[in-house]
Amino acid sequence: MTFEIKPYPEFAWSISRQRKLDQCPRAYFYTYYLGWNGWLDDAPTETRVAYRLGKLTSLDALLGQQIDVRARELEAAARTGAELPAADELETRTREALRNLWTQAKNGRAGFEARPNKVTMLRSLYMNQDTQPETDRLNQKAGPSMQGLLATSHWERLRACGGEGRVEVPDFASFPHDGVKVFAAPDLAYVEGGTLHVIDWKTGRADDSNPLQVLLQMWWALETYPELAQAAACGSLEVRGYLEYVAAGNTQPVEAVAGFRDHAAETMHAGVAQMRALLADPEQNIPLEMAAFERRESGLCRNCNFFPVCA
Ligand code: SF4
Repeated sequence: MTFEIKPYPEFAWSISRQRKLDQCPRAYFYTYYLGWNGWLDDAPTETRVAYRLGKLTSLDALLGQQIDVRARELEAAARTGAELPAADELETRTREALRNLWTQAKNGRAGFEARPNKVTMLRSLYMNQDTQPETDRLNQKAGPSMQGLLATSHWERLRACGGEGRVEVPDFASFPHDGVKVFAAPDLAYVEGGTLHVIDWKTGRADDSNPLQVLLQMWWALETYPELAQAAACGSLEVRGYLEYVAAGNTQPVEAVAGFRDHAAETMHAGVAQMRALLADPEQNIPLEMAAFERRESGLCRNCNFFPVCA
């Protein structure tokens, strides 16, 4: 099999890209352009460094990944009719996985620098920052998150589904719209009792753009599964979204009101225009010079992966 090296990434839009651009255009440049091909051994140093820094993570993000793993375990148990694990069992599994990742990061500096996509590395450890605030935060959130996850309404419905009503969500789920690849993967989606349920787990605080994120995920489901779109169009399928703030134990319903796709498309088109204005060649997705990407300094710089190179 031949492996083609593409000099520039494919242009794509997602709510997380949009958030990154809105927070700081320079961080967006480092993440989506400068670090491109940074996994190649002969890439320029600044490219390899940007790629490596882009791979740094945090305990908050790792907890989010663990929530996703626990949710899949709960789905599997519910669908087979098995008893669900208790919250403290979920917490034990989560803490063990996080301890292993912590150890990997603690001992993995050389491995991470050689192969950043193979070794988990925490930003705080890599940058020799005080790790106490994030470990304290994790200790506060881990238990309540498992209780919150277990208390959501989905497991009883999935128990009723058995093997039916599966909506497979691939990694990097996307759909094309007006010639642009739109990434929008729900954390969980299923059909039960004439309703498509689309779920996003959250361990952090509510954000104004979170409901839009779920609307995009609903749109992805309807684009990817035409039979669901058809059923929704003729009124035989309801579509419901959920923002599950598991750490806080709250559910925010997201309604698929009439025209929700137009509303989501409007935001996407505005974002795409903003991103394309930063391109020298929109056809090939070649960015303008780095200086065109504003450095938007804020309190977020403290926790920015690119802080060591940003000047
Ligand atoms: S350190 Fe601050 S200004 Fe620089 S890329 Fe990060 S957020 Fe932007």
